[in-house]
Amino acid sequence: MAEWYRADTAQVIRDLRTDPERGLTSDEAARRLAETGPNELVESGGRGPWRILLEQFRGPMILLLVAAAIVSLVLGEWIDSVAILTIILLNAALGFFQDYRAEQAMAALKQMAVPTVKVRRDGSTREVSSREIVPGDLILLEAGNIVSADARLIHSASVRAQEAALTGESEPVEKEVEAIDRDDLSLGDRVNMVYMGTAITYGHGRAVVTETGMRTELGHIARMLQSVEQESTPLERHLAQLGRGLAVAAIGIVVAFFVLGLLRGEEWKVMFLTAMSLAVAAVPEGLPAVATVTLAIGARRMLRRKALIRKLPAVETLGSVTVICSDKTGTLTENRMTVTAIEVAGQPFSLTPNSTGNEVTASASIAEEIARRPLAALLLAAGALCNDAELEIESEDQGKQTGNATKAGPRVVGEPTETALVVAAAKAGLPKPRLERQMPRVAEAPFDSTRKRMSTAHRLEQTDGASQDLAVAALADAIVQLGTNGDAQFLICAKGAIDSLSKVSSRIVLESGIAPFDERARNVLGKSHDELAARGMRVLAIACRTSIEEPDDHEENLERDLTLLGLVAIIDPPRAEAATAVTRCREAGIRPMMITGDHRLTALEIARQLGISVDDRVATGETLARATPEELDKIVATTSVFARVSPEHKLRIVESLQRQGHIVAMTGDGVNDAPALKRANIGVAMGITGTDVSKEAADMVLLDDNFASIVRAVEQGRIIYDNIRKFIKYLLASNVGEIVVMAAAPVVGMPLPLLPLQILWVNLVTDGLPGLALAVEKAESDTMRRPPHSPTESFFARGLGRDILWIGVVLGIITLAAAYYYWDPAHPEDHRWQTIAFTVLTFSQMGNVLALRSAHDSIWRIGPFSNRPLLAAVACTILLHTMIVYVPWFQQIFKTTALGLPEFIFCGVVSSAVFVLVEIAKWISRKWQP
Ligand code: ADP
Ligand code: MG
Repeated sequence: MAEWYRADTAQVIRDLRTDPERGLTSDEAARRLAETGPNELVESGGRGPWRILLEQFRGPMILLLVAAAIVSLVLGEWIDSVAILTIILLNAALGFFQDYRAEQAMAALKQMAVPTVKVRRDGSTREVSSREIVPGDLILLEAGNIVSADARLIHSASVRAQEAALTGESEPVEKEVEAIDRDDLSLGDRVNMVYMGTAITYGHGRAVVTETGMRTELGHIARMLQSVEQESTPLERHLAQLGRGLAVAAIGIVVAFFVLGLLRGEEWKVMFLTAMSLAVAAVPEGLPAVATVTLAIGARRMLRRKALIRKLPAVETLGSVTVICSDKTGTLTENRMTVTAIEVAGQPFSLTPNSTGNEVTASASIAEEIARRPLAALLLAAGALCNDAELEIESEDQGKQTGNATKAGPRVVGEPTETALVVAAAKAGLPKPRLERQMPRVAEAPFDSTRKRMSTAHRLEQTDGASQDLAVAALADAIVQLGTNGDAQFLICAKGAIDSLSKVSSRIVLESGIAPFDERARNVLGKSHDELAARGMRVLAIACRTSIEEPDDHEENLERDLTLLGLVAIIDPPRAEAATAVTRCREAGIRPMMITGDHRLTALEIARQLGISVDDRVATGETLARATPEELDKIVATTSVFARVSPEHKLRIVESLQRQGHIVAMTGDGVNDAPALKRANIGVAMGITGTDVSKEAADMVLLDDNFASIVRAVEQGRIIYDNIRKFIKYLLASNVGEIVVMAAAPVVGMPLPLLPLQILWVNLVTDGLPGLALAVEKAESDTMRRPPHSPTESFFARGLGRDILWIGVVLGIITLAAAYYYWDPAHPEDHRWQTIAFTVLTFSQMGNVLALRSAHDSIWRIGPFSNRPLLAAVACTILLHTMIVYVPWFQQIFKTTALGLPEFIFCGVVSSAVFVLVEIAKWISRKWQP
């Protein structure tokens, strides 16, 4: 591998045949992609169809059945033997079908999770899937990116990268562009390179891709760690444990059954097969698998509702979430920011006289007014300069090329707070591209949510005398006012939270002119600020300074002795659906909380509008930072709005909530949010505005950044958990029923009612189909009206165990009673009574599955036809059963006898008893607990 860190940037660009401004052409990129292959790590983790098929033939149950088939064959019962094998195959087919669907759902989720990368191609900036990156591509790096390939930096504005994934070093490394002429430098010391899988934590820059895919440093490691173990979910582990418990119990029962049967003088051949079948019946082998399948399918349903699940256990945990901590900006609000007013020298100035919103054109009246107030013009210009959003004056053919249907015209791209400022300046006749031509950026200290401010330095280009343009003339005037003398060469602009900028300002623009920033001035400014913030506005302060020397990128150097020009008020309306979602949370026993970097008053007003705050309590980051753990717990228990919070406070809030027994969902979008997202039970990242780093740390990504989507995901999580419980109730009740029938028959003096093959058939085939359809059952009427279930609660809590037992026993008794009625000891050659037992058991289960679709509501309330797949499955099962009873060939195998119409009707009527009883039980529980 070439040692790219030794080459200087010009050589790297030459060697990789790229252009430092325009990047590769699309044609060249496509050609290289064909040559090098996609930029991805080859994973051996995914399961192909063959492997899934093979996995269906594992586990003790299959061994048991194969043993049974062999024993049957040895005993000369070849029909039984073939039938058992056929049942194994049918059951495997069913399992394969489910598993395959789950695998596909997971693959689709993974596909969605591939990040995009900003690259320069054909001279413009594009976002492409990271899979399409090729060597020579010019990639743009920003704080929050996960680097998508190995690359050599050619420009760095304070780029820092966290490379723990590769080097184990957890402190971010400062990056540079100069070549390093040293042999054998370790990865961590190659400070002009960035590596795939590492995170950019600060600054921004450009780099030329040197290696992609498995040829990257991460690829080398991945090759060494080729086994990717899938994490099992708590539910799966829970169910596996349950399965083991039941298996032990079952073996006990079966051995006892076998021995007692022999003692009673039953033929050992029959007893052996029966015992074997019962063992198969009682061991719920498939439980963990069912959970996985249901969770995976659930994840796909959540995806349709804009929640991308990154870790499967999240589907389940979502159901037990007790607190949702949400960001304000973009999640609870629309993130469509508009500057409505600015305030300079205590004089407000409205920017939306006719509320045209984000129209990016100059408004004559505003421009004129601004030209009369030089410092206001400077404030708007500084807001646009100290800003990474861009005003693109897109030409028409480019619009066509990118397939954009929107009409060509100016367009602002970037972070909403920043775009709002660029738009405001443009309205006042100060379009950003022109400002940048007159004042190109030479240094910067980027925004981060702990500092809550950002600064840039600009060289003041010599303009040719007095400008014709009023706005530009005003700007020049303001710069003169600001400087002590006229020979300033550089302008430093800063914007940020008022409290943050106050710390680095020494002067302020007041009505009387530029004055020292003293206590009195502080109060005047504070008052203006609070009035705006109390209306729910996001208020930014803007400050400037002129300089004779060229400043460098150091914060301390840039951010000192600033003059506060004034305030910018930005509205960001709450999302229309957020208030409803907050109400739904409350009804569902979930506490909504707001955690924001914004000002106390802004946060409180929005929280009040949404119903998150009912008592006007707010805590600020400062309070949190000072609080002892005990105090913190107290604050967190009583306060739902947190303002001026830094990411590290978020971590403390999560930990405090968890100490108090909460299951926490927490949103985040920035690099520094990653620890809190990891720590939360459900870390939620933003799909649109979120950084790669936050997405990587999250369990779930909101594709629409919307708070309401979290609540919908919680609802889905609850539905899925409910459905898994219903499925288990259904399966286990059937097993209990079979054991009761088989165990009680000898007690009342009857021979064994169910034949081994019949038991296998019921368990492995007919129970399975309707059970699967339960997975698509919709929400219960109270899904979001009851408190979350505790994750420590037993799976059998809330009546599940009780229901399984009584329904199972009733099922067994009814089956046995029906059989007893037809049993005639005088005619042992008449097998009708056994067919009746088989039929009643099967049909009763159909009634059971219909009735337990809802845990509380009657079938009429939820609509008898509202689960079509289930009806189809029930119909299919009844059809299959009828076939077994009436088709002679099947009669031979399953030892069934054709039933007459009256007997068939009898079975139907008797079987409906289970359905009726379960409905009555639900009715009683509804009456009992209103
Ligand atoms: P939020 O939780 O609302 O997303 P942020 O951490 O983004 O909060 O912002 C916190 C504060 O930092 C804001 O109230 C604002 O004053 C300031 N701020 C936000 N974005 C920028 C930016 N791009 N440049 C400068 N200051 C900013
Ligand atoms: Mg933000």
